[in-house]
Amino acid sequence: MEKQTFLEMAWSYTRVLVLVLGTLSAAAIAAWSAVQGMVGWQHVTLFMVAALWIRVSITLYNHRYFTHGAYQFTPLGAYTLKPLLLFGSGMAVQGSTEMWRGAHLKHHQYVDDWSQDPHSPNAPGGLLSKMWGFLWAHIFWMVYLKSVSKPVPSSQPRGWLEKIYGYDLTYILFGPILAGSIAWLLIGWLGVAWYFAAVCVTLHVTWGVNSVGHMWGSRPFPTKDCSRDSWLFVLLSPEYFHNAHHAFGSSARFVHKTWQLLFDPEYLLLVACLRLGPLSLVRDIKVPSAEHVRRRRQTLV
Ligand SMILES: [Zn+2]
Ligand SMILES: [Zn+2]
Repeated sequence: MEKQTFLEMAWSYTRVLVLVLGTLSAAAIAAWSAVQGMVGWQHVTLFMVAALWIRVSITLYNHRYFTHGAYQFTPLGAYTLKPLLLFGSGMAVQGSTEMWRGAHLKHHQYVDDWSQDPHSPNAPGGLLSKMWGFLWAHIFWMVYLKSVSKPVPSSQPRGWLEKIYGYDLTYILFGPILAGSIAWLLIGWLGVAWYFAAVCVTLHVTWGVNSVGHMWGSRPFPTKDCSRDSWLFVLLSPEYFHNAHHAFGSSARFVHKTWQLLFDPEYLLLVACLRLGPLSLVRDIKVPSAEHVRRRRQTLV
């Protein structure tokens, strides 16, 4: 890990504190407004739309497309679906897409190596270390984000839209500031609080994959890391099929049994976007064969 100067550390702590406390405050204001009876259908709708939009965008764009190249966009999809997903990625306040990709690739490369994985919860030691490991993997790793993960160039094609969401300053302008302004224009300041409440919830859902997803749950695939399928949280995001994801990193599908498809609706959305004939929005969806999945259940890799 690169050593940071005092000023860099102070800035890193400030950044993370503003993000965590700011979004928590927004969630508290939203909850308070609900208790006071100040909330209408429009606030709840805005919250649900923002949370769902962010959830779909992070898993389909940041993770499955931009980081792992698990599918591609058709020319039509590049002008329709992709901008929608990029805006959702910006709304999420999870860092620029380049930084997100850099941190996640490093996670896959050094998974659960405490000294090299950007957010492994597996701190060596006893119970106290385990508690610190959870907090580290959930939030505190971000303080060191800049020093542990440099942006890694992607092989995906980049237009001006990708560049906007690929840099810290521009994604903040076209992500949270633009989304917050739209919420304000639509329903005023309380709308802004409800939008950032959605950001708060989705941030913890994503961070939980790093912490919970490597601590609690089942391991249907014998990977060399500690990744888990955390069934308790799969309704929040299919990302919680995290053991399956580590077993098949470049798969566009996070579940590998037919009845489990209901828990990965984002994959079903991809398939629907593929099957639109001449109006298909995506192409080249990668999934492992049934035989590969069967063998992988019995092979430690
Ligand atoms: Zn992982
Ligand atoms: Zn991944």
